[in-house]
Amino acid sequence: MVRKRSREVRKYPRIQITSEAFNLKMKIILLGPPGSGKGLFAQFLQDDFGIKKIATGDILRKEIRNKSKIGKKAEKYVSKGIYVPDKIVLSMIKNKIRRIKNFTLDGFPRTVKQAKFLDKVIKVDKVIHITTNDKNVIKRIANRLQCGKCNRIYNLITIKPRRKGICDICKGKLYIRSDDKIVKTRLNVYKREIKPLIIYYKKKDVLEKVNGNRHFNLVYNDIRKLIK
Ligand code: ADP
Repeated sequence: MVRKRSREVRKYPRIQITSEAFNLKMKIILLGPPGSGKGLFAQFLQDDFGIKKIATGDILRKEIRNKSKIGKKAEKYVSKGIYVPDKIVLSMIKNKIRRIKNFTLDGFPRTVKQAKFLDKVIKVDKVIHITTNDKNVIKRIANRLQCGKCNRIYNLITIKPRRKGICDICKGKLYIRSDDKIVKTRLNVYKREIKPLIIYYKKKDVLEKVNGNRHFNLVYNDIRKLIK
């Protein structure tokens, strides 16, 4: 029999957060290329378990939109698809990770320097590396939309909003990220930086690998098992 459930298209919001889930104490890092689903799974973990999603890309885009001091500095890097200098990112994230008990980091750390900084501030419980091939990444990004208000991620094929261009949950406007047009540059930057980071976490014995080249329900099931 065909496993129908795993092919279902997921709609926001998902299940009710149980008290057991609320008792989770988890500091999770998601590693993976652009379009591997980090943002999506971090959002699912937040919806299902109350584990807060902290996405440095979302924070930076907000700073850029608000034309803040950080935003003005970061814009020239983000628009080119290259990493924002550690100094800017570290000062931006420091207070957030100190204050929050349960979180998933999406897009941080991206360099060994960032990982070492993180180790000084908190103890990481799990690092989940989502692997994907370039073809999938490019296809997903070509169909990706994001909510400008709550940062939920949608996809024109797999996770369609109920109303065109509108977020199911907060009714914010969905938009296409301008840096999604330079996905190949971002992929190359990622490939250059990820290897030393993987070695770093392998040595610490916290690294888990998940095959991200599958339907998102299957990938998410694996991630869920890892945090239980
Ligand atoms: P993706 O997962 O597609 O790379 P993100 O939203 O995580 O996208 O990040 C978008 C951009 O924000 C990156 O290309 C980079 O310029 C910047 N950025 C995000 N997180 C970091 C970080 N930890 N260090 C440096 N730059 C970052």
